[in-house]
Amino acid sequence: MPQPLTLTDLSIRADAPLLIVDVDEVLAHFMAGFERYVGRHGYEMRIDRFALFQNIYRPGETESLDFATGKALFDDFFRDGAGDLDPVDGAADALATLSTKAGVVILTNAPAHALESRTGWLSTHGFDYPMILHSGLKGPTILEMSRRTTGPACFIDDLLPNLDSSAEAAPDVKRFQIIADARLRPLAPTAPDRHGLHEDWATLGPALEAAVR
Ligand SMILES: [Mg+2]
Repeated sequence: MPQPLTLTDLSIRADAPLLIVDVDEVLAHFMAGFERYVGRHGYEMRIDRFALFQNIYRPGETESLDFATGKALFDDFFRDGAGDLDPVDGAADALATLSTKAGVVILTNAPAHALESRTGWLSTHGFDYPMILHSGLKGPTILEMSRRTTGPACFIDDLLPNLDSSAEAAPDVKRFQIIADARLRPLAPTAPDRHGLHEDWATLGPALEAAVR
């Protein structure tokens, strides 16, 4: 079972490469799973922008859901729905191979009550790595982690603000962006000149192999 850890308790090998990996839209198909969840509660998802609650509608309505209702669905999802996420193809195998030479840490932004569903999901799908349940921009945390090894470090996320935050706080950490949901991908803000952009783990895996070599 993956262990939920604080940054202080996290053990990082001082000379090994380090991979810091997000979950949603990187290892897990969050949007598709959340879509199924809101569907079971009588709502529908129309993915026409890179957003979450603004893509949720009551059937037949043209105005998306108000923030409070969307947030309540999101919070409930992490209580009783977040076990139902499909893993992203190739991610578990790629990380298993990479973890023979690199440390792997899961860094996920999710509410505190997501601890059980998140660790359970990771364990079920072959991601048995230490996990930090985080909130806010990830750059400062990435800096803290990367300082603990002399090896190369990589950060993988779907969200541009986290990648930019990493670049600002810890410019030596190599950055990779993947947006697993093919419907979200064309809508997602990206910056391939600053952060390596990948559509799937078939190219991301080898890029990480090269980065930790
Ligand atoms: Mg994510």
